[in-house]
Amino acid sequence: MPSASCPECDSRVFVDANTAMGDTLVCEDCETELELVGLDPFELDPAQPPDPEVRDGFNIFEEDE
Ligand SMILES: [Zn+2]
Repeated sequence: MPSASCPECDSRVFVDANTAMGDTLVCEDCETELELVGLDPFELDPAQPPDPEVRDGFNIFEEDE
Protein backbone atom coordinates (compact mmCIF):
# COMPACT_ATOMS: atom_id res chain seq x y z
CA MET A 1 0.00 0.00 0.00
CA PRO A 2 1.36 3.45 -0.83
CA SER A 3 2.32 5.69 2.02
CA ALA A 4 3.38 9.23 2.82
CA SER A 5 5.14 10.91 5.71
CA CYS A 6 3.15 12.64 8.40
CA PRO A 7 4.16 16.34 8.38
CA GLU A 8 3.70 16.48 12.14
CA CYS A 9 5.57 13.44 13.44
CA ASP A 10 7.27 11.97 10.34
CA SER A 11 5.48 8.66 10.79
CA ARG A 12 4.47 6.63 7.83
CA VAL A 13 0.82 7.17 6.93
CA PHE A 14 -0.71 4.63 4.60
CA VAL A 15 -2.70 6.11 1.75
CA ASP A 16 -5.46 3.99 0.33
CA ALA A 17 -5.39 3.72 -3.46
CA ASN A 18 -8.89 5.18 -3.57
CA THR A 19 -7.86 8.32 -1.73
CA ALA A 20 -8.23 11.42 -3.86
CA MET A 21 -6.73 14.89 -3.66
CA GLY A 22 -8.26 16.84 -0.80
CA ASP A 23 -9.34 13.74 1.10
CA THR A 24 -8.47 13.67 4.77
CA LEU A 25 -6.63 10.95 6.65
CA VAL A 26 -5.68 10.63 10.27
CA CYS A 27 -2.14 9.84 11.34
CA GLU A 28 -2.24 6.79 13.58
CA ASP A 29 0.68 8.01 15.64
CA CYS A 30 -0.14 11.64 16.44
CA GLU A 31 -3.82 11.57 15.45
CA THR A 32 -3.39 14.71 13.37
CA GLU A 33 -5.98 15.09 10.65
CA LEU A 34 -4.15 15.28 7.34
CA GLU A 35 -5.20 16.35 3.89
CA LEU A 36 -3.83 14.71 0.77
CA VAL A 37 -2.32 17.55 -1.25
CA GLY A 38 -0.13 15.63 -3.68
CA LEU A 39 -0.38 12.31 -5.51
CA ASP A 40 3.03 11.76 -7.08
CA PRO A 41 4.60 11.44 -4.64
CA PHE A 42 1.94 11.36 -1.97
CA GLU A 43 2.09 14.51 0.10
CA LEU A 44 0.16 15.32 3.25
CA ASP A 45 -0.55 18.62 4.97
CA PRO A 46 -2.28 19.13 8.29
CA ALA A 47 -5.96 19.61 7.50
CA GLN A 48 -7.04 23.09 8.47
CA PRO A 49 -10.38 23.44 10.17
CA PRO A 50 -12.58 25.86 8.22
CA ASP A 51 -12.00 29.40 9.38
CA PRO A 52 -15.38 30.72 10.55
CA GLU A 53 -14.48 34.30 9.64
CA VAL A 54 -13.32 33.71 6.11
CA ARG A 55 -15.16 31.76 3.44
CA ASP A 56 -13.87 31.38 -0.08
CA GLY A 57 -11.48 34.23 0.53
CA PHE A 58 -14.18 36.73 1.41
CA ASN A 59 -14.57 38.21 4.84
CA ILE A 60 -18.18 37.70 5.89
CA PHE A 61 -18.03 40.80 8.09
CA GLU A 62 -17.07 42.92 5.10
CA GLU A 63 -20.37 44.79 4.79
CA ASP A 64 -20.49 45.74 8.44
CA GLU A 65 -18.26 48.65 9.46
ZN1 LIG B 1 1.71 11.96 12.74
